[in-house]
Formats: sequence, structure tokens, C-alpha cells
Amino acid sequence: MSTPARLEAIRSINARAPRKFDPPRDDNGRRLKISEFFGMNTFDLKQMKEKLPKEVFAKISASIQTGKKLDSDIANVVASAIKEWAMARGVTHFCHWFQPQTGSTAEKHDAFFSLDDDGSAIEKFSGAQLIQSEPDASSFPSGGMRTTFEARGYTAWDPSTPVFIMESASTKTLCVPSVFISYHGDALDEKTALMRSVEVLSTRAIELMALLGEQGVRRVVPTLGIEQEYFLIDREFYSLRPDLVMTGRTLVGGQPPKGQQLEDHYFGSIPARVQAFMAESEYELYKLGVPIKTRHNEVAPSQFETAPIFESAAVATDHNQLVMEVLRKVAQRHHFAVLMHEKPFAGVNGSGKHNNWSMMVTASGADLDGENLLDPGKSPHENIRFLLFLVGVLKGVHTHAGLLRSGIASAGNDHRLGANEAPPAIISVFLGNMLDRILTEIEQGIGSGESAEARVIRLGVSHLPEVMRDNTDRNRTSPFAFTGNKFEFRAVGSSASTAFPVTLLNSAVAYGLGYVADALKKLVASGKRGDEAALEVVRDLVKETKAIRFEGNNYSEEWVKEAEKRGIPNLRKTPEALAEIVSPKSKELLTGLGVFTEAELVSRYHVRLERYVKNLQIEVDTLRQLVDTVILPAGYRYHSVLAQGVAQAKTAGLAAPQADVASKLGQVITSIQGKRQALETLTHKCESQASEEDKARAYAKDVVPAMAELRALCDEMEGAVADDAWPMPKYREILFLS
Ligand code: ADP
Ligand code: MG
Repeated sequence: MSTPARLEAIRSINARAPRKFDPPRDDNGRRLKISEFFGMNTFDLKQMKEKLPKEVFAKISASIQTGKKLDSDIANVVASAIKEWAMARGVTHFCHWFQPQTGSTAEKHDAFFSLDDDGSAIEKFSGAQLIQSEPDASSFPSGGMRTTFEARGYTAWDPSTPVFIMESASTKTLCVPSVFISYHGDALDEKTALMRSVEVLSTRAIELMALLGEQGVRRVVPTLGIEQEYFLIDREFYSLRPDLVMTGRTLVGGQPPKGQQLEDHYFGSIPARVQAFMAESEYELYKLGVPIKTRHNEVAPSQFETAPIFESAAVATDHNQLVMEVLRKVAQRHHFAVLMHEKPFAGVNGSGKHNNWSMMVTASGADLDGENLLDPGKSPHENIRFLLFLVGVLKGVHTHAGLLRSGIASAGNDHRLGANEAPPAIISVFLGNMLDRILTEIEQGIGSGESAEARVIRLGVSHLPEVMRDNTDRNRTSPFAFTGNKFEFRAVGSSASTAFPVTLLNSAVAYGLGYVADALKKLVASGKRGDEAALEVVRDLVKETKAIRFEGNNYSEEWVKEAEKRGIPNLRKTPEALAEIVSPKSKELLTGLGVFTEAELVSRYHVRLERYVKNLQIEVDTLRQLVDTVILPAGYRYHSVLAQGVAQAKTAGLAAPQADVASKLGQVITSIQGKRQALETLTHKCESQASEEDKARAYAKDVVPAMAELRALCDEMEGAVADDAWPMPKYREILFLS
């Protein structure tokens, strides 16, 4: 037998000199500080201020602040400045960079190049080109929303994220962050609704602050800091795994003797070649203005994390797309492959994208400007404000837990949520011991004759800031955990765009804040004083939303039972979770807030359902091909080796102990053949379902478990075939980078 490609790959990896990364230096050989190249490939506010006439700069910064569209009369001025800036850096092409509902980004490149009237070549980039372009919308998912007679869509510059230059080995492209809208104004992308939800949240938060007597608030911006987990593996192994290449996860693969049980990887020292990869990708991201702050090993072998400093939700969402893109690209230079899938390896921790989320004030007064509304303040008044915003969040999550679950639903995340390492599919809120206790005291201890201020002090509310600072209490099992001055939405999948989940979160909280404001208005109208009324609203909402709070172990079976008792939704699989998008309650919320039209919402549902089914179809096909063309043949070959050995032994008049092994292997082969056939039959049955909904549900119910059963048999065979006869890289080889 010839050496399997797998063993060749190991040899070539070991023989390879790892790529080094030397950070940029100045002419004297001094290493540049991050601040010296941060944002150098973006045309940011600083650049604009420098390069644009004063009145143009004023207009554009106003449009960035308010999210309003740019006047076309100044667009030409801006475009011309951007073109000069970009061409000086060797840029030849530009594109509108946007986020269709594919989970990733799209771009269509055009050259700056144009022909003059007399046919001579010129470089051209007009205001119109900066502001708008018209990609053919029919090649992007729309969930049936584009009416058949109108397939046109257009992208429009969204100046909230600065334009940036994407560099590759051969070309530099100017990317214009954009939204993508149908000819009739329907959102075809992920970003438009996100921006609408940002506006709605801001409006509601400002209304609530006004009721508390806060003046001069301009905007309240949801902030987002995204921790991105990923696996990094050798590219040679990756290319020998059709399952990884086609589906992003391994569909087969036996468990290694050592997994993560030794817990020796988390925060451990980072292998040198991984460090080189990290340093280079961070350098690329800094140039793009992405403020990467931390890097470390994660829990599973070969799993890592990167996290930026938080930014406004819209910018952070764009930047996370860049993070994923840059990690993928730079990994190739280092002969690595990055796996963003939620669960690339069975039995090994999966990856999430922890969305750290809060609300920040922009105000005219210095005392309010930059204030984090989920950070308890210094005075009883500020603490009451904190509590009102906190119960606003609780109300939103309590009422719309199902919808929030739908936002994180995907075929990939199904393998992670509810596994004993990731948050369950049940959305609950963790507040931490101290805050939980304070809320319980508020719930029980209110109603005496003291003043609100006195009560705040007695209940320990005035000590909130100290309490929270000391409170290092963390619950890694919670899908939505308060971490001192922000919430961490941990259940989002690692490969997901944060746009949709954060849109839903903003919307749910906008609803909660509106609810708080209404309750407050009512009490004030009935003659209650401001802080008195506020505390009463807090108490009522603490009571009302109690069911959504859970401080215990979210992985435990008891919690599943307890949640059921409390009536909290447990939407285990994607199809049932997605149905929440179009429930009457969700429709009322999202169309009521103006975040989605009903048609847009229905289209989101269909796009996601369709993607779920397609993902599974691809997985099933990949698994079938793997079984037919790789795994069974490996079994047949080794079986035949054994059989020959048995025959030779018998001819030589010897005992043939391998006969047992051969016959056991034969049984596994037969079982695999049978299961493979059964999977095919099941898939046909799913495909014959009339509606996409039924199809998706059938895939979830029948096909996913059947794939797991077939996989278990394949893994059994991997353990029965001689190592040098097994074609595909094994977990133990893929997972232990050094
Ligand atoms: P850890 O979760 O380990 O405590 P950090 O608290 O440093 O880590 O934060 C994790 C992420 O949360 C970082 O991206 C950080 O910028 C972000 N973050 C911190 N404060 C806020 C905030 N007010 N709003 C949104 N994200 C925040
Ligand atoms: Mg964290």
C-alpha cells in the first residue's frame, strides 16, 4: 500500500520553516508603535478634517453622528478627496462593501479608470459613484421579497464606518461600507435594519432619560465589543478533509485519547507560529482601524480568541466582518486554515462570538457625555437610572426571549447550543450574586414610608458601583450575562454576523425601555415623585421579569426542567427557533418599532430557513461522498489486506488470528453501508416535503441524528483500520498545533 496523503502532510508540516512576521519599523530600525499605523488604510474623521473644506467636513460629521444621508452636493467634494487619498496609496479599484443576508460580505469592484470624451484614459471616481451603486440584486438571497418584476437593488454609502483600503498581494481596493436596498426601499441586507434598531433604541433611551430629568442628551448609542473565537489548524490537514472544506466542520473523526480534559490550553502560552499569525493579522487589522486589544488561547486545543475594544454597534459589526476576513486571509500566508464554524470538532468545545453590549450617551454636557447607562453611578439618582435601564433590558429579554433565540439560530450553532460547554438554547439572564440579591431586596423591601433616597441607601443600591467593581463573579454557562457594566450575549455563534442578533437585542431593549417610560409616566401622572415612582417601576419589573433570571448552572438538566416550569421557551433546533421571527408578537414588535417591514421580516425568516436546509443538504452530500469514496474504500482495502493475510496463514498451515479482526471490520462495513442507505432514504423523504418549513423540521428531526449515527460507525471503523491505511487526518493530528 502507498503512504496515505495524511502521513505525507505530517511530514511536510514538520519539515516546513514557519513564516515569521516582522512588525513594521521606521528608517532607523525602530519598531513602529500601533498608534503610528492604526487606521492608516482608512479615510477616517481625522483624514476628513485634514483634507475637506470646513463646511463639507461639518456636514459629513453631522451625517455620521445622526445617520442621515449625505447631501449629493457635497458628495463630489468628498469623493474627489477620497480618490486623491486612495490613489496616492496605489489604489486602482473601488467597491461598495455590504452585507447581504449570507452572513458575510459582498463587493463588486470597479476601476477608477474611465475614458474621456476624446477616448483618452483618466482616473474617475464621482460623488454619485461614492454614494450609490447598482449591483444586480437577483444573485443575493432575498427570501422571495424582491418581486419578480423588479430585481434591481442598490447599495448606498453608510458613512458611519470609514471607507477603507483592502490590500492583497496584487491589488489595493477602496471599500465603501454600504447598505443594500431594493429599488422600493426594502432592506436586502443585514446592516439597514441594524441601523434602524440603533435609532429606535436611541429614541427610546432619550425619552426615558428625559423623564428622569436628564437634559442635553443627543444620542444613546448601543456599544458592542465582540470576542471572536476560532480554531486554527494546518492548511495541509484542512485540504485533506473534504468535510472541512465543504461544510466548515468535521463530519467524521474519532476522539483523540487526549482532548481538553487536562485543561492545559486555556490562556496557555501561544505557540510561536500562531503568535506570528496573530501579530500579522493584528497588524493588518490595525491598518484598517480595527482596535484589536486581546488575544489568547481558548479552552479547546487549537482554539483561540481575539477581541477588540468596543465601538458603536454598527461599526463593531462591520469590524467583526473584517476580523473574520483578515484572519482567513492571513492564515493562508502562514499555511493555516481558520475555522469559524460553531462546532468544527465533535466532543471538543465549540466556538462562540461573545457580544458585549451596553448603551452609551452622547450629550452636550460633559457630565453625561460618554456615560455608560449600564454602569452604576456615584449618586443615588444615577443608581436609580442604572436600575431603570437594567429592568428595561430585563423586560425586553423576558418578553422577547424567543425572538432573541431566533437571532442566533443556525445549523452550526445547533451543535453548540445545549451541548455541555455552551449556553443552552434557553435564553435567560445572569446578573451575578450581588446584583441579584439587591434586586431581590428591592422586590421585597420596598413600600415602607421612607424617602426613595433613604431606601436606596438602605437597600445597598448606593453601593452598587463598589459592589459591582468587586464582583468578579462570572457565569460562563449563561447565554446572556451581566458583567459589571455591560451584558455579554454569549450564545451568538462564532461564524454569525452580529448584525441580526444585535438588531433583535436593540429592538427588544427599545421595547423594554419604552415600557419602563410608560410605567413611569403613569405613576408620575398619579402624583408620585420622580425617584419614588422610579423605584416603584423597578420593583414591579423586577417582579414581573423574575422568570428570566437564572443564576445557576445553565448546562444542568435541572435548569431545562425549571425553565419549562417557568414557561421560558426552550427552542432546541433552528427551525423552531426561526419560527419566532414571524410570530405575531415579534411582528408586532419589529414592525411597530419600524425596524423591519412585515415583508422584510418574512423574508428574513425564509432566507434563514433556506440557508439551514441548504447547509444540511451540503453536509449530507459531503458525508455520503466521504463514506462512498474515502471511508468505505479504506475499509475495503484494509479488509482485503486482512483477508489475504488470513488466506496466506491458512495456506502456510498457521493459525490466522486476524480473521476475527477482519470479520469485525466486515460487520462495521456492512453497518456503514446500511446506515448510509438509510440516510439517503431519509433525505429523500425530507426533500419530498411540500413546504420549506416542513423540510427544515424533517431535516432537524431525522437527518441530523442519522448523520450522527453514521458518523459513529465511521469513527468506529477509524479505530479498527491500521493507522497507515487511514486516509484522512485524525483529530489527534489536526488539533495539536505546536
Ligand atoms: P472580559 O469579558 O474577559 O471581562 P473585558 O471586560 O475586557 O473582558 O471585555 C470584553 C469585551 O467587552 C471587550 O471587547 C471590551 O471592549 C468590551 N466592552 C467593555 N465595556 C463595554 C461596553 N460598555 N459596551 C460594550 N462592550 C464593552
Ligand atoms: Mg468576556
